[in-house]
Amino acid sequence: MNELRNAVFAKVAQHSIRKIAKNVFLHLHNLDLGFHLSRQTGALSKTIDRGSRGINFVLTAMVFNVVPTVIELALVSSILGLKCGAAFAGISLGCVGVYAAFTLGVTQWRTKFRIYMNQAENEAGNKAIDSLINYETVKYFNNEKFEADRYDGVLKKYESASLKTNTSLALLNFGQNAIFSAALSGIMVLAAHEIIKGNMTVGDLVMVNGLLFQLSVPLGFLGSVYREVRQALIDMQTMFTLMTMDSAIKSKAHAPYLHVDSKTSNIRFENVSFEYAPGKEILKDLSFTIPPGKKIAIVGGSGSGKSTVVRLLYRFYEPTSGRILIGNQDIRDVELESLRRAISIVPQDSVLFHDTIKHNLHYGDLCATEEEVINSAKMAEIHESIVKWPQGYETEVGERGLKLSGGEKQRVAIARAILKNSPILVFDEATSSLDSLTEHNILEALRRATQGRTSICIAHRLSTVMDADEILVLENGRVSETGSHEILLQNPNSLYSKLWKAQNHQGFTSEAKKSLKV
Ligand code: ADP
Repeated sequence: MNELRNAVFAKVAQHSIRKIAKNVFLHLHNLDLGFHLSRQTGALSKTIDRGSRGINFVLTAMVFNVVPTVIELALVSSILGLKCGAAFAGISLGCVGVYAAFTLGVTQWRTKFRIYMNQAENEAGNKAIDSLINYETVKYFNNEKFEADRYDGVLKKYESASLKTNTSLALLNFGQNAIFSAALSGIMVLAAHEIIKGNMTVGDLVMVNGLLFQLSVPLGFLGSVYREVRQALIDMQTMFTLMTMDSAIKSKAHAPYLHVDSKTSNIRFENVSFEYAPGKEILKDLSFTIPPGKKIAIVGGSGSGKSTVVRLLYRFYEPTSGRILIGNQDIRDVELESLRRAISIVPQDSVLFHDTIKHNLHYGDLCATEEEVINSAKMAEIHESIVKWPQGYETEVGERGLKLSGGEKQRVAIARAILKNSPILVFDEATSSLDSLTEHNILEALRRATQGRTSICIAHRLSTVMDADEILVLENGRVSETGSHEILLQNPNSLYSKLWKAQNHQGFTSEAKKSLKV
């Protein structure tokens, strides 16, 4: 029956663990970019792990230990009370009371050691993961020993916290046994007196002894179950704290879908201001319009806020003031997912999944056919390279795509953005890691891909955005100059002209370089 119970309950426990773990995972994906930029991956995965294990434990303990134990205690005390008198019931209940109070108190005191232990374990996980992710950087600077020492420092903290947890456990067990032994001795002395008085038989003494021993089994469980349940609750609490974190950016109730196509996908920034942290304004009163189907370029020095414009458009962040419209609809008022479906982004740093190149390309549209995937790879000029690899499309790309070159990763990112097939395309320094020849070919491909779509191109190298319908030069969080390449070059003192000259080595002076700060 015991085994049958375990077999039946396993389904309930495993199912709830799965459901909760999935909910937490989904919730994490719904949290803001801000949360994910400051999260620590190692600690996060440990929290989910321990939290789900905790749920299993609490469920099992409650259903199979705590409730049956309470019933057993009530039964034993009633039998003792009815058969042998109030003093016997008093000792057994007193024993349970003191035992429970002691267990509760000491466990409460011990909890902090467990918390330290968890913290140290999380920290150790983070250090190890961060260090291993930065494997190449560690090697470049010969810092293996430094990394090992740092890791060891945290392990030392873990060691000391775990030592305290164990020694305090010994103290708890000692105290529990002492209380129980005292109660047992007391009840035996009482029974002996009753036998001498002739009120009880030797058989009664054996019964009293047997009943109290009967109690010791669930009591022993009660102590350890209480300890474990408390620990499990701490682990679960950490996990559920994550669940209570709310995302500041979400769709309003009953928000309409954003319906845009190549003819209606105009984009307007109206007096948009934004700061990541108070006091450091990145965009100031920024306004510009992109007519549907046009290609505009955003240029400017590093850190001028070009990528921030894209993040705001994708609603990773909310402007502090002003509004952004797509197809004349405020992006705050439309359903978030439909907004994000309408925009394809090739980010500055393309990171790939630890899977095959095919999976990574397919990710742009999981419903696309194999032919469509290959077509987009051809458009991004990566198909030829892939088929030359021994495993072709089945080649594993390594963690974060580390086995591919920067240029290859960028082309994968371009291919999947093409596959997503959205009316708005954004390229954030999409060709910065490519050699000139590949870049030239890809720009051709991009031109084809952007035909008829509204597109934003952020570029460092001005030669890549010469053909844009309009170029916005971003300076100090504002658009300082706009116009086509030719118009902007007409003013030799414009920032754009200076940038152009600097990049093409014409009339390039050190003063110009200083004033550009790029
Ligand atoms: P660009 O793309 O023009 O090089 P970004 O838009 O990436 O510049 O960044 C603009 C400024 O905002 C930079 O000074 C950068 O340090 C800061 N910044 C970017 N992301 C964050 C962030 N998540 N938190 C705080 N500051 C940020």
